[in-house]
Amino acid sequence: MNWDEFAEWSKQIADWGAAYHTGLPDRPVRAQTKPGEIAAQLPSSPPQQGEDMAAILKDFDAIVMPGMTHWQHPRFFAYFPSNAAPPSILAEQLVNTVAAQCMLWQTSPAATEVEGVMVDWLRQALGLAEGYTGVIQDSASSATLSAVLTMRERATGYTGNREGLSGKGHLRIYCSDQVHSSIDRACWVAGIGQDNLVKIGTNGPRHAMDVASLEAAIAADRAAGHTPAGIIAITGGTGIGASDDLAPILDLAQRHDLYTHLDAAWAGSAMICPEFRETFWTGVDRCDSIVFNPHKWLGVQFDCSVQFLRDPAPQLNTLKIEPEYLKTTGAAVTNYSEWTIPLGRRFRALKIWFLLRSYGLEGLQTRIRNHVAWAGDLCEAIRGLDGFEIVTEPILSLFSFRCPGDDAAQQRLVDAINDDGRVYLTQGAFDGRKIIRVQVGQFDTTREDVMTVLTVIQDTWEQIQ
Ligand SMILES: *Cc1c(COP(=O)(O)O)cnc(C)c1O
Repeated sequence: MNWDEFAEWSKQIADWGAAYHTGLPDRPVRAQTKPGEIAAQLPSSPPQQGEDMAAILKDFDAIVMPGMTHWQHPRFFAYFPSNAAPPSILAEQLVNTVAAQCMLWQTSPAATEVEGVMVDWLRQALGLAEGYTGVIQDSASSATLSAVLTMRERATGYTGNREGLSGKGHLRIYCSDQVHSSIDRACWVAGIGQDNLVKIGTNGPRHAMDVASLEAAIAADRAAGHTPAGIIAITGGTGIGASDDLAPILDLAQRHDLYTHLDAAWAGSAMICPEFRETFWTGVDRCDSIVFNPHKWLGVQFDCSVQFLRDPAPQLNTLKIEPEYLKTTGAAVTNYSEWTIPLGRRFRALKIWFLLRSYGLEGLQTRIRNHVAWAGDLCEAIRGLDGFEIVTEPILSLFSFRCPGDDAAQQRLVDAINDDGRVYLTQGAFDGRKIIRVQVGQFDTTREDVMTVLTVIQDTWEQIQ
């Protein structure tokens, strides 16, 4: 393909993109596809001769698009949002086109320097103290793994990487029983082991980790000869939005010299609204590491996960490696690949810059405040349905409910709702019972879109009786 053809196709794809997004409300949110249906339409071996872009795009429309679930649909209320506001898509198109590897300062100075400034803009937007620096990672899972590796190395006097872990006893990491599965996986991959991830029970209106139990667990582990290495706190757990009381946890961490990581992958975006910080983030500035995903609620196209670090030295001591061919000369510069596990890096900061400049913090705050308010309205409406029960009250814009009947009835209702296609919800579990989750956070959703959930619940509930 030559670059004139590239320009032509790019224009066509831009027009396609606008039509796709404006037409989303008429499509079912969740793909209505059977397993194997898409693969069956693809040739089983690659073409020997090149094909025309027109033919490729035609098949994209005919074969691929019917098998897509529409995450940018205004009535997407499943999982968590994965927003891609139009300016961040444009930034991503530019990044894709320049296609630079941004692993070192000198491999694209602008990427490193824009990243440094964007991390600091977001630090200010979230009200975090001066002094935090940070790095943009692909996902919260990677940031959490980096933090867990740092806990491991710090607790072993930075000898784990060199010597391995055998003979080092049991390193222990603490979190609540409401954390995301990425915390378990980080402990598997870091060699800590699932059995050494100590999950503490929760209580209170926001299902916060019980600090007395945490303290008792740390003391018991020390008495047993284990090595406490770190605490992972959470703001806005995936299941029901569980959020820890940070101040007492951080007091405890300080007393026991434990490294702390905060998983705010979803709810971190809401902290751009100062009024939520008092409830959720009192004391946050003592966390050693904090992760939040601008690629969820805030509106930055996937992938974009920011890890803030109070002091980057422990993570750099854990992850930095400098073979000869990566050495840079001259003035001191930041090489972000030394802060993370992968070497290669995309230029992710550009889409943050485009988003923040296009909407301003006020534009983004208004969206998040609306989502929280509308989730509350919908929750009250569902509470009023005969026999329905709110299981977990709204935490920010996430709540859960049950319809009358057993667990199987909950699944029947979720499946019926998603087969209907007007909205998309997912199920979860709480206290050993199946729940139906609702989160409001799609970038362009309206109050009317949100209240459609009520209509669809009523319609489908009647159908499955
Ligand atoms: C989504 C989510 C994660 C995982 O995020 P990835 O970026 O997909 O790795 C972790 N923790 C919480 C609370 C989340 O909501």
